Amino acid sequence: MAGTATGGRTAIGLDVGGTKIAAAVVDERGTILKELTEPTPAESTAEAVTAVLQRLIEQLRTAHDDVVAIGVGAAGIVRWPEGVMLWAPNNAYRDWPVRAQLEEFSGLPVRVDNDANVAALAEARLGEPYPNMVLITVGTGIGGGLVFDDRIYRGPTGMGAELGHIILNPDGPRCGCGNHGCFEAYASGTALGRMAREAAEDDPDGLIARLGRENGGVTGHTVLQAVEQGDETAKVLFGRLGRWLGVGIASLANIFEVEAVVVGGGLVETGDLLLGPARIAAREYAYAPTARGIAPIVPASFGGAAGMIGAALLAMDDS
Ligand SMILES: [Zn+2]
Repeated sequence: MAGTATGGRTAIGLDVGGTKIAAAVVDERGTILKELTEPTPAESTAEAVTAVLQRLIEQLRTAHDDVVAIGVGAAGIVRWPEGVMLWAPNNAYRDWPVRAQLEEFSGLPVRVDNDANVAALAEARLGEPYPNMVLITVGTGIGGGLVFDDRIYRGPTGMGAELGHIILNPDGPRCGCGNHGCFEAYASGTALGRMAREAAEDDPDGLIARLGRENGGVTGHTVLQAVEQGDETAKVLFGRLGRWLGVGIASLANIFEVEAVVVGGGLVETGDLLLGPARIAAREYAYAPTARGIAPIVPASFGGAAGMIGAALLAMDDS
């Protein structure tokens, strides 16, 4: 078990993403003592990525020779507790035994988990602690993590908590996972891009359509640009996206009793544009709110650093 806020021990946290690999030495309070970043190798095989991880670990240990453990958070499906990366959406590796390889390399205990799970642990423990919480990350897709009693919920083998794929409408738009009407198909950056293309078709002279023509296509980012210029249609689209976000959040908050729903990911930087309508919908669809209350929906505190901080905290828990 982790000591409580002694701050004395340190671990290395690694965050393996589709475009970059971030690594840091982190203490028990979640403070980053040293940080390094490298691009994910273009040919993202297990061998190529392992070489980067080993190099980062060596560099950080040279600077901090007292680290007690290593944690890895990686995008994809990780079998727990073995730490085998079964599949990743943006990388070539399959069935990659990350934990075993890094333990042999470093001689330290290693924990490997899904990136959203470890990000949830960081958000749950640090800042205002929420020992029971849901993290939703809104990016290209929707990811998330569940923390109950201060521990990550994973299910028996690490496959739990695919929060982006709860079904909001079985007849809804197709999701990247092949299913229909998932939370991700309604409330992600990809969903925003789809809604924006529909809006551009309906109004070819509107700002979204014009920005799309100037920039080689309409995406979720086009809506962000349009909203910054005060475009009413873009505000409506954010309102619609936020409402779906709130519907998904209500579904999760109705199942679990949590102290907060933390929302992270790039689109949250728009602040209340997205979270405002989400809060209204979450209230509207809350079950027995007078008895159960309504969990606050708050923006994430740690942004892109949550993955490596959470990975380090996880590693220190078990060592
Ligand atoms: Zn899906």
